[in-house]
Amino acid sequence: MSDKKLKTIAVLCSGGDAPGMNCAIRAVVRTALGEGLEVYGIKRGYAGLLEGSFLKMEASTVGNIIQHGGTMLQTSRCPEFHDPDIRKEAFHILRRKNIDGLIVIGGNGSYAGAQALQAEHGLPVVGIPGTIDNDIQGTDYTIGFDTAVQTAVEAVDKIRDTAFSHARTFIVEVMGRKSPAIALHVGVCTGAENIVLPSDEVNYDQIAQDIKRGINRGKISSIIICAEGEKAGLGYEIQKELEEKHELSAHVCILGHIQRGGNPSAIDRFVASRMGYVAVKSLLKGDKSMATAYVGGQVITIPLEKSLGKKDKYLPQFVDLARALSI
Ligand code: ADP
Repeated sequence: MSDKKLKTIAVLCSGGDAPGMNCAIRAVVRTALGEGLEVYGIKRGYAGLLEGSFLKMEASTVGNIIQHGGTMLQTSRCPEFHDPDIRKEAFHILRRKNIDGLIVIGGNGSYAGAQALQAEHGLPVVGIPGTIDNDIQGTDYTIGFDTAVQTAVEAVDKIRDTAFSHARTFIVEVMGRKSPAIALHVGVCTGAENIVLPSDEVNYDQIAQDIKRGINRGKISSIIICAEGEKAGLGYEIQKELEEKHELSAHVCILGHIQRGGNPSAIDRFVASRMGYVAVKSLLKGDKSMATAYVGGQVITIPLEKSLGKKDKYLPQFVDLARALSI
């Protein structure tokens, strides 16, 4: 692509939805319009792009969405986008619409699609990290994480009422197929006796020991937080093992998709608004392949390739913290 002046940009959401995506869309649209750009929203991610599903965005198109979870543009998974020929087709669709830059709100997979479009066809792209998992490399924070954690914490607080009233142990399964972030935060914030992470070999003896330690000092209820891992239902395996091997009875609650939706928290709205603004400024500057990132309280841009990976280390000391505080 030539280095002509930026006139028209597009924005899409891809992968799993996350609360705050709407705030990012709103910020992109209003910043771009304020800069005299034309803006298109692309519906249903890369799938909608291939279908030519474009929506001309005006300031009013993004009115009254800041407080809503999900994404007004909808999102999707589009396996075809792994195919370079399909991406070429996508690029031509964007070119026919005179799109000079694309903002992609999503996780690592969505970033990989954007990176490929840029590398193969020179289209300037900026990624905005939108995923409840907070697992994208190069950024301390991803949009949706705070809301998802808050939703899960509120649910566990309710479960704790019953756990206390009936003197029960509850195993609460939270989202996180590969990412430990939600489980770690929810575990610390709800005073869990044990947190099981997706990368862990489940240490049933330790879980039993943590529950018994509480019982021995007169604790009435116990909460075990486990991340769902590759397939939901780990909570039931833990329940079975505790009953069969340790004579401990426990109830299981799988929170599931309630953690994905809901009104974004103030933190998610604020970070998303800042990221949407910074993403448009990055395209205006002539950047070709960047991602917005939250680093040390600042929203900055970093090369997209530095955000393609998953965060490798995730504060395992939070497990020790939760255990230390639940004695
Ligand atoms: P997330 O963006 O939340 O990580 P996914 O991993 O499901 O979600 O990716 C979302 C979409 O991004 C995929 O359905 C596909 O369209 C696109 N995508 C993922 N990985 C690649 C890749 N390596 N190359 C091109 N497109 C990709």
